[in-house]
Amino acid sequence: MEKPKKTVAVVVPCYNEEDVLHMFYKETQKILNTINGYEFCYLFIDDGSRDKTLLILRELAALDHHVIYLSFSRNFGKEAGIYAGLKHADADYVIVMDADLQHPPTLIPAMIQAVEEGYDCCAAMRLSRTGESKIRSAFSRTFYKISNRLTDVKMEQNAVDFRIMSRQMVDSILELSEVQRFSKGIFAWVGYHTKWIPYENVERPAGKSKWSFWGLFKYAIDGITAFSIAPLRLVSTMGCIISVFAFIYIIITLIQTLIFGIDVPGYVTTLCAVLFLGGIMELSIGILGEYIGHIYMEAKDRPIYLIKEANLPKRRAASSGTVYSVQRNEENYDTNTME
Ligand code: UDP
Ligand code: MG
Repeated sequence: MEKPKKTVAVVVPCYNEEDVLHMFYKETQKILNTINGYEFCYLFIDDGSRDKTLLILRELAALDHHVIYLSFSRNFGKEAGIYAGLKHADADYVIVMDADLQHPPTLIPAMIQAVEEGYDCCAAMRLSRTGESKIRSAFSRTFYKISNRLTDVKMEQNAVDFRIMSRQMVDSILELSEVQRFSKGIFAWVGYHTKWIPYENVERPAGKSKWSFWGLFKYAIDGITAFSIAPLRLVSTMGCIISVFAFIYIIITLIQTLIFGIDVPGYVTTLCAVLFLGGIMELSIGILGEYIGHIYMEAKDRPIYLIKEANLPKRRAASSGTVYSVQRNEENYDTNTME
């Protein structure tokens, strides 16, 4: 009897990608057609797009039964998209890649070869950041420097979210069910043996990046607070140091007053002390607030995403014995849109 082919799911989060989706499918398909011995499927996640992304996905699914799509009820963010993809991809290997062709499909054969060689994961790493603004590159470098110093997980600075992972690694990632997800950190946290493949940065052929500077800044703060409590330690250390200095200063002032009597106003000293301590206090409350915010969001334990439409059950019915499964109990499906 013929050995069953290994299955590979390509997870693609898409948000307003009408300009590139056809191109993405064509280019990726060209590469996948050259790889023998595997059964591929696509798992597109429409992250609440407001353009024709969903229409295009329906079209692709109608043309190719290997195309599976999930469509969220609104924009939940790329992290939610990746999580949904991993959760529904029941294949032996799972590839995560962007829809904008900035993650070259030409790397897929080498990635598959790496996991076949025994690596648990093979991830892409940018050699350059051409086409990216200098401010964004500098900000990103600073983030990795701070984050790698503060946290136990060491993140590769030029790593992108383009990787293939073994079933075991995907299952481990799914065990981390936090609502506020930071995939780069999660990939590093779960460990496993990763092979890095470098590639030259590619610019988007069409459409535009969804990230604003402010969006990236918030994402970076979330990344640090999700993996480290070092900022909290900083606050307490700062408190200790300032208390020691304050104590010494109080003793000196007391002695001076006892020996020389009450001196003149001390306006500058008082003002400096009030402003300095006020600043430190605001900062400390802010840091505490970040963590409380995280606890609050996690405590609510809301679903990470809601699916409005998907072609999963149809796909399951269409090809018997397929490896894809549906976990209906955890998401809200709109039954009107499902067959
Ligand atoms: N994306 C998404 N939801 C979002 C933002 C982005 O699913 O809220 C997808 C997007 O469609 C693309 C990938 O995430 O496939 C990377 O997005 P983008 O190209 O905007 O990011 P950049 O390459 O600039 O980091
Ligand atoms: Mg991009």
